[in-house]
Order: sequence, then structure tokens, then C-alpha cells
Amino acid sequence: MKAILVILDGLGGRPTDLDGATCLERAATPNMDGLAQRGALGLMDPIRPGVRPGSDTSHLAIFGYDPFQVYTGRGAFEALGIGMEVRGGDICFRTNFATVEERGGELIVVDRRAGRLAEGKELEGAVNGIDLSDLGVEFSFRASTEHRGALVLRGENLSAAVSDTDPHETGVPIAQAKALADSQAARRTAEILNAFSRRAYQALKEHPVNRRRRESGKPPGNALLLRGAAVMPHLRPVTEEYGVRGACVAGGALYKGVARAAGLEVLDVPGATGDLRTDLCAMAKATLAALSDYDFVFVHIKGTDNAGHDGDAQAKTDFIERIDREFFGTLLAGLDLTQVHLVVSGDHTTPPAAGEHTADPVPALFVGPAIRPDKCQKFSERAAGEGGLGRFSGRLVPQLLAYCDFGPKFGA
Ligand code: ZN
Ligand code: ZN
Repeated sequence: MKAILVILDGLGGRPTDLDGATCLERAATPNMDGLAQRGALGLMDPIRPGVRPGSDTSHLAIFGYDPFQVYTGRGAFEALGIGMEVRGGDICFRTNFATVEERGGELIVVDRRAGRLAEGKELEGAVNGIDLSDLGVEFSFRASTEHRGALVLRGENLSAAVSDTDPHETGVPIAQAKALADSQAARRTAEILNAFSRRAYQALKEHPVNRRRRESGKPPGNALLLRGAAVMPHLRPVTEEYGVRGACVAGGALYKGVARAAGLEVLDVPGATGDLRTDLCAMAKATLAALSDYDFVFVHIKGTDNAGHDGDAQAKTDFIERIDREFFGTLLAGLDLTQVHLVVSGDHTTPPAAGEHTADPVPALFVGPAIRPDKCQKFSERAAGEGGLGRFSGRLVPQLLAYCDFGPKFGA
């Protein structure tokens, strides 16, 4: 038996989004409605009722973790999501290549994103060549898209209780990292970051990429700003707990990161992006292909949330229709529904009328041979409120895998 979880980010909506209807209610979704007719619906509070979820905390809850226990910040998952090796206890930072100018012995930030440079990968080696061995710490750096990247510190006696070196404004010096806790580990980590800032500038200022950029009038990426220190939590992979092989099909780094933390292998899907341009057919084909090697596939589609944040109810409705046609159309054409359990839901509600995540519950659809159908005819918030699954909190992955009879028994 195979399991598929499809999360449409920020799927849920409010009746105020489209003059009495949500985007999901308004959208024509024959494929998802067909699944609703075969399966059962319910309303899910991703974390618990009344908690307004972030995408990271809600995904932890969906995978069965308690985010109040394990969540330390998004930095660790971002680092995992761009393919870095991150172990429990490592300290992770999000980074920006930035442009600084030496003035009066200080490094003044003039562009926090170095003109959104495209040469981050070419600068990566110079950063990784910085020597911090005198400080007794190992580190690795990886550039991701444009000016973005992540830094991971590993060693004894480190702490995430340190302030950012990113000043979050221009015309001021690179910030000095400071200890945010009265501990030797925090003070030591702040010292390491300040040494790293100075050495990164030395390693980058005359780099051929930056010389070339200066010659063509572009701002050089001659500094690296750090923010969002987070310690990687020790998580038991769900794949280990349930004894399954799992894969992830996603575009956004954060979701790939949570999936890796949960023990899933992140598949490379050309065309899959974390926005409305993502290739939904390619994501469906990758999901089908993964079913021959894996027991469980987690699919994350981000664009619904983007349209919600933009306050664009029409874009969200159109994208839901595209998901139904392109993703589910392709997926269902290749799927034997007697051999798979499928869950479709969101990680929170992002009503275009609110433009932000809200605490409202999200519709969830379960379908598969072990699932008793209810009377719902359509996949929507309204139908889900009358669905046979009632209202529950998070834990979609444990529920889905349990329907497939994976996992241990608790008790005798
Ligand atoms: Zn989200
Ligand atoms: Zn969002």
C-alpha cells in the first residue's frame, strides 16, 4: 500500500474572499470533487485550535511533531532544504551576500542584497575557504538563489542565542553579533561570528567575480550578513518510526528542509518552483514515478499561499483550478486508487481578504481503500465542515500512514 500527502500551502479561505465564497468553493475542481465523493472530509487545525500557524511549525505538526517542543526557527530547515548536511545541535543562519564599503575603519552596508547577484555559487568556494580552525569550530556555507544562502556552525560549546550581523538597514556598519544569553557558549558564538564577518570580507573583496562586477558598475558581493540563528533540533525521522521509505516533491526550500528532517529524500524535479509558475504536471509525474521506489510521497505546492499573501482571490482561484486540472489530472490518470491512500489538505488558511495566515481550520480530504466514504460531494471548506472526519489537530502523516497499516502499536 502506498501513501501520498498533497499539501496546498495556505489552501483555506474565508467567505469574505469572494463575496460569500472561498477560492476553493468558487474554483471548478472536478478531480478533487471526484476524490471527495470517493473519500471523506474533515476540518483540520494544523497545530491546535486558535493557533495561527507559520508554514514551518504547521508542517512539523502535520508530520506528527510537537512544534512547541521542537521548533527553533526556520534557519535550520532552510539549510537542510538547500541540500546542506545539518545535524542535531548544529547552529544555522540564513545569509545574504551584501555590498559594503570601508569607511573610517568600518564596513558600511550599502546594499543588503548585493544587487541580487547571480554569482553566489562562484563565491561559495571563497567563503568555504575561510579558516576558523583557530576558533575551534567547523562551518559550511552554501549559496542558494540570488543573494541568499545558509551557514552552518558545528562544534562544542556553541549557542543560537546570538544577535544578527545583518543590520537590516543600509548606511550603517555590519552589526556586531552579541550574546543574547548570559552564557559562555553565547559569548563564544558571537565572537566566532564577528571574526567570520571580517574574514569573509577579506576573502571576498578582491575575488575575481567582485572585480568583474565593480568594473561593470555592479555592486560587489563582498560581505556576508547572517541572521536568524537557530539550532537544529534532534528529530526522530517519521520514516524510521513508521518503517517507510519516503520522498518529497516540492519547490520551496523550507518544505524540502522539513521533509529531510523527517527522513524523506528530496527528489530533484526540474520545473518545480515555490511560486505560481511551478510545473504542476512535472510534479505529478515525479510523484507517480516515486511510487515505484517509495512507500510515501509528500507533495508541497506553494502558489496558493503566495496568491493569498498578495490578496489576489482571482489568482488563488485560478491556481486551484490549475492544480486540479494539471496536477490531479495527471496524477489520477496514473494512479490505482485501490492501492494508495491519498490525503489532500493545506498547512493553514491564507485568505486573500486577510493577506496573511489565519488560525481558521483547513479542509482535509482522505481517500483510499481503508477510508469509509462520507456524504461530501465537493472538496471545500463548507463540505469539510459536514464531513465524516469531523475536526482534528494536525498529524496528517501519522494518520495517513496508519491507514496504510505502517507503524508500531502503542501498548499490548
Ligand atoms: Zn504555509
Ligand atoms: Zn504564507
